[in-house]
Amino acid sequence: MRRMTKAVAITGASSGIGEATARRLAADGHSVLLGARRTDRLRRLVEEITDQGGTAAYRALDVTDAADVRAFVDAARCEFGRLDVLVNNAGVMPLSPLDAGRIDEWDRMIDVNVRGVLHGIAAALPAMRAQGHGHIVNVASVGAYEVSPTAAVYCATKFAVRAISEGLRQESAGALQVTLISPGVTESELADGISDPTARDAMATYRSVALPASAIAEAIAYAVAQPSTVDVNEVIVRPAASAQ
Ligand code: NDP
Repeated sequence: MRRMTKAVAITGASSGIGEATARRLAADGHSVLLGARRTDRLRRLVEEITDQGGTAAYRALDVTDAADVRAFVDAARCEFGRLDVLVNNAGVMPLSPLDAGRIDEWDRMIDVNVRGVLHGIAAALPAMRAQGHGHIVNVASVGAYEVSPTAAVYCATKFAVRAISEGLRQESAGALQVTLISPGVTESELADGISDPTARDAMATYRSVALPASAIAEAIAYAVAQPSTVDVNEVIVRPAASAQ
């Protein structure tokens, strides 16, 4: 059976899960537009993908800026003629106990992890509705299902992504595919943004057993490979050795 190739835009593609997803989807023959703030990394990844015969482009993107996300989605349509799939993957995780009162970091998590996803949905929906199909893949976390100390705000943002995804699924039945991908601990740069010493120490142990980012990319590739009649709604992927 011939696989359908799709036009895919991926936020947060400069490292970790987004980078692995770009490689994996491009290897499957999909065209990928990569967005993040670190464009030097995106440029190198695009060169790598195109050297291997794939189709890729990049654009500087800050998901906290709704107009920037709209321009990112428009760029995908300009580059590839349509947007079949948007992967809302960009995220940050500066964990800390609530007592530490790190309001700036709470705001940043809300801005990137929740507003960023909403900006992606707002930008992509008109185009997807107009073309009569589309697939929104939101990357949440096991933290969308459970809460742990130092992770209250991070988990709140991921619970929100799960709620938004379920609402979007219900409102889009028959028109769009909506997938929530929830990784367990995965190798990436995510924990590098933790500045609180208590949280940083706790994470060193918690994150000692981790999946390669390619394992999450595999789950995303599976959802993206489905025909428009099949909607993979929620996937949780943990390291087999992890009890959390
Ligand atoms: P990384 O830190 O490696 O990647 C995060 C990506 O998000 C980077 O490409 C970064 O790019 C991008 N990003 C951050 N802020 C912005 C912004 N304002 N605008 C655009 N892009 C931004 O971590 P992961 O790969 O692990 O994270 C990917 C997703 O997976 C996140 O949503 C995270 O919450 C989720 N996740 C990860 C887990 C893990 O254990 N790794 C577990 C559960 C969920 P740049 O800085 O260049 O802008």
